Amino acid sequence: MKLLFLLPYSQRLLAFASGVQAIAQAIVRRGTFEVESCFVTLEDDNTLSYTSSPFSPTDSDIIFVGLTNPAGISDYLTMIELLGWPAARRVPNEIPSVRPLVCAGGWGTANPEALADLVDIIFVGNAINSAVAVCEILGHHGKPNTLDFWREIVQIPGVYVPQLYHVRFESDGVIQAVEPKYAWVPTKVAFGVDTVSADSLWAFDGETAVLTATRGCAYRCAYCPIGCEPYRETPLEILERQIAEVVAQGARQIVVNAATLSRHTQANELLDILERTYRQDPNLAVIVGSLRADELSLPLLQRLSRLQTPANTLSYYTESKTQACLTLAPEVGSDHIRALLGKVMTNAKIFETIGAARQFGFNHFMLYFIVGFDFHAEVTDIISFIRHALQLTEETQAHLVVRITPFMPTARTPMQRFGLLGVEKTWSLIDEIKTALAGKEAARLGFSCAMTPVNYLYQALGARGDRRVSHVLLKLHQRGINQRATALPALQRALHEEGVELDWYLRRIPLDEIVPWTVVDEIPAQLQRSLLAKLARPADGTRDK
Ligand code: SF4
Repeated sequence: MKLLFLLPYSQRLLAFASGVQAIAQAIVRRGTFEVESCFVTLEDDNTLSYTSSPFSPTDSDIIFVGLTNPAGISDYLTMIELLGWPAARRVPNEIPSVRPLVCAGGWGTANPEALADLVDIIFVGNAINSAVAVCEILGHHGKPNTLDFWREIVQIPGVYVPQLYHVRFESDGVIQAVEPKYAWVPTKVAFGVDTVSADSLWAFDGETAVLTATRGCAYRCAYCPIGCEPYRETPLEILERQIAEVVAQGARQIVVNAATLSRHTQANELLDILERTYRQDPNLAVIVGSLRADELSLPLLQRLSRLQTPANTLSYYTESKTQACLTLAPEVGSDHIRALLGKVMTNAKIFETIGAARQFGFNHFMLYFIVGFDFHAEVTDIISFIRHALQLTEETQAHLVVRITPFMPTARTPMQRFGLLGVEKTWSLIDEIKTALAGKEAARLGFSCAMTPVNYLYQALGARGDRRVSHVLLKLHQRGINQRATALPALQRALHEEGVELDWYLRRIPLDEIVPWTVVDEIPAQLQRSLLAKLARPADGTRDK
């Protein structure tokens, strides 16, 4: 069976695609058929790279598309065009019947409807078990051209087939109903949870090893999809064995993935093992995942400082920064709003952690903030927070990088119905932060933003869009418009010409309205109601102060 993996990011980031690599390995391990895999990545200059001799999409049996965010839909269309395959191969509203089957998964497919006319199958949640099951069924049937084939496919937990549902719209664009086309099509598709052993969740390309210390998150921040996935820890003895194995095979970097590594019940012991390994080979780089400020005990900070870990995977890989750096995510500058977002942690606690880290020699900090909530169109709290962090680190002249992520409500999270502020307002808030801190503090400050305005609009359409959006994205692509090369005015003009009312997709979605991703939505209405009321837009009336 020929498997083509399309990953719309640079090959240097392939090492992080441990989930995708685990899919390929799990299919091989199953041993049902001979497997040939090729990973294709999209480089910054819009060219393709291959991990092995490439085969064309038409020679493939299954194409797996891994999207880290919804804007990746545009890159996926670019990739298949570069591969010489017609982007419009899928026929809207028709049940797919030809090879290759195109399956998509990853955080970028949380709202599967924006991909409805572009792929055949979307994995909801973890994809390893589901992908193996799809291969088995395809191998058994040979072609996806019968209803029996699709009847088996929809039995797989966490598999959504958009073309097996009718979507009816009201004249004003509101979704009237989403109905299965056949009685055997499930009305709801729940999050697919992998049952694969933690032992198989690691990737090693001969140079970089990516280990998975935890899956999901033990916390439930209302905006975060990771918190909606069950929390699981990889036992220490398995991680220890993997570390020994990759070091013996010449690993130069060990990345330990975790939503909050500090939460792992044996985080101290794991850091001890990593430190011993690092001492034996000081040229080895150890990069650990995120850490929560309220979990960073002094022993943990001490261990991190001894390890000299560049504890920010992003800057290590995108900018080759190797200095010891502590990444913290205050998200907002107000205790009250942070608590309402589900991240119960005070500014005082975060400052205490920064102070303690300074004592252990940390002189670089990365601070993550979210800007552009529809209920909080201001940044004075963030500016005050940063000023205080600057004062706190004045003595050692520590460097702070402020990483700003524009708010993007993610489907299947408690904040899925919240509105977006749009490009102009969101970027004016970002500019407000930069201007306020442009004085003498600027020398110790760096800024980065997780999105460009064009990327933001593509993400918003992918995160919010109904299946009409998948058609629009295809049309934009056919007009030569994409998220990498198109300027904002040209994108806005093209969206206008295609009849897209952006405000429709940026608005707050009322609780009684059917969301495009309703089949995969599992968030209790009561939880959403309570959040929407507590975090009301100013125009809605009262705001909980
Ligand atoms: S924001 Fe961090 S702590 Fe909160 S749920 Fe997500 S990963 Fe967990």
